[in-house]
Amino acid sequence: MQKNKTILYIEDDPEARFLMADIIRFKGFSYIEAKRGLEGIRLAKEHHPDLILIDLNLPDMQGYEVTTHLKSLPLLSHTPIIALTAEIGAHVKEMVLTAGCDGYISKPIHVNAFIQQIEKYLEGHRDTIEADEERHYLQQYNLQLVNRLKKKLTELERANENLSTLNNELLESKNELARYNDNLFYLNNLANYLRTLNDPKALAEILPLKILEGFQVKRCLLFELGTDSKQVHIISSAGFHLEEPPIGSLELSSRFLNFLFEQGGILWIKNQSELIEPTLYDLSTSLESQTFLLANLSALGVQQDATSILRSAHSMVQETDTDEIQESKKYFIFMDKGKSDSSFQTYEIRILKSFLHSVAIIYENMMLHKRLLELYKIKSEQAIRDGMTHMYNYRYFMQELKREVNRSLRYKTCFSLMMIDIDHFKQYNDQNGHLEGDKVLKLISHLLDQNTRTSDTVSRYGGEEFTIILPGIKKNAAVVIAEKLRKLIAGYRFKGNKHEPCCRVTISIGIASFPQDSTDPEILLQLSDSALYKAKASGRNRVVAIDEL
Ligand code: GH3
Ligand code: MG
Ligand code: MG
Repeated sequence: MQKNKTILYIEDDPEARFLMADIIRFKGFSYIEAKRGLEGIRLAKEHHPDLILIDLNLPDMQGYEVTTHLKSLPLLSHTPIIALTAEIGAHVKEMVLTAGCDGYISKPIHVNAFIQQIEKYLEGHRDTIEADEERHYLQQYNLQLVNRLKKKLTELERANENLSTLNNELLESKNELARYNDNLFYLNNLANYLRTLNDPKALAEILPLKILEGFQVKRCLLFELGTDSKQVHIISSAGFHLEEPPIGSLELSSRFLNFLFEQGGILWIKNQSELIEPTLYDLSTSLESQTFLLANLSALGVQQDATSILRSAHSMVQETDTDEIQESKKYFIFMDKGKSDSSFQTYEIRILKSFLHSVAIIYENMMLHKRLLELYKIKSEQAIRDGMTHMYNYRYFMQELKREVNRSLRYKTCFSLMMIDIDHFKQYNDQNGHLEGDKVLKLISHLLDQNTRTSDTVSRYGGEEFTIILPGIKKNAAVVIAEKLRKLIAGYRFKGNKHEPCCRVTISIGIASFPQDSTDPEILLQLSDSALYKAKASGRNRVVAIDEL
């Protein structure tokens, strides 16, 4: 028998309490009772009963709520609580067990069975039938939980798969960015290197090779558009074997070239079937190409200003007879990815486009620089030459005379200066006409130039007067040279001279020497002029050196 054990009964029905008190006391247990839920909680806290019986329908609270509350108290969490209920549906069972009741007994109670049940609970047993039901319920509940868990797991796995795809994509993008960066870095360095070159030819020679080095490109060709705008000539290449040397020209239709121009200067042919241009098709099949890129460098780097600068520079040098000065040439670059499956990536096209753009600008600047330099040379030549005879002019002669004086002073050498004047040239003009006179002037300058050393400076001093600076020549030697020149002219038969004394023109020469006569350029000039005057005065067609005065 369970003596001295206390049982608390929480029940609002006085009849039921009365009955229960009788049964429990009869069985020798201590009995306490509560009419309401809150009172039950208070009494349970106060007396710590060994078993609690609870009616589910109480006036102030639901039996479930009282149970949940009592089970949450540490001192009462292990005290068995048995629900007494008239309704026994699946729903009530679930509620009773979920609230934490250890079991339930259906009303009306059968005294003997009831006593047996509460004794079992007091011994720590639970109602086996109820426990089975509870287990079954829990199993079901567990099953539901497991299913829910499985579903969640599948969702998580799927999310994980998505994440790893995303991660791979990110990794791929990262690698692509790294490649992009490498390419950009290389091309930037290359563009800087190309800028250091000053010969457009050198640039054209090296470009295909450099592209091969920095890009996944198998072969590269550089063409120049021919003047007929139909043929393109190969000017440099890289990546070809010896047995397939890329030489010669290709025919490209103007329609195709226009198309290329319209496409922003770059044409990306992803496979051979896209090719409509027969020559390129032949080229690509012979190279076994799958994909290639054709770019028009001049279209990429078109500089309107460059041509106009060149034109205006050219017009400044109108008299020049150089045909060298031409418009910009058009260049095409052909890049072949080769037989491999890999085709040009969009990022490669973007980089290549910007790189080729830079190359085109570098090239045009180079050309412009080169041509301006040529024009500058022509212009500076013109500044020191006489337009008619092409001999040095007065200004240049004066500079050269001063330079020669300085040089001779520094190196302690000598030089002689000749002043030459054509005799009776006025008369010659009068008799033969000015145009014939011009021809004689040109011819005499030519003869003087041809019969002196290259180190000598022959200049047109003005009108029909010439000067010659003869470095390293002393007066005696200068007299000999002058005599030779005088005789040469006097003996020369000038054509077109219709009047007597026919075909003959003579010159008079005055000579002064450095440092013998003076070390001052102005004085040397005056002295040579005086000597010339003397030559004239003493009958012309003769040579006079100043000390003969
Ligand atoms: P002199 O023997 O005293 O030197 O007599 P000259 O007639 O040669 O000398 P003058 O100084 O009287 O005349 C120089 C002439 O040279 C006058 C001019 O017609 C001619 N002359 C000067 N420059 C040119 C030129 O560029 N072309 C031609 N055809 N004649 C020129
Ligand atoms: Mg004269
Ligand atoms: Mg004269």
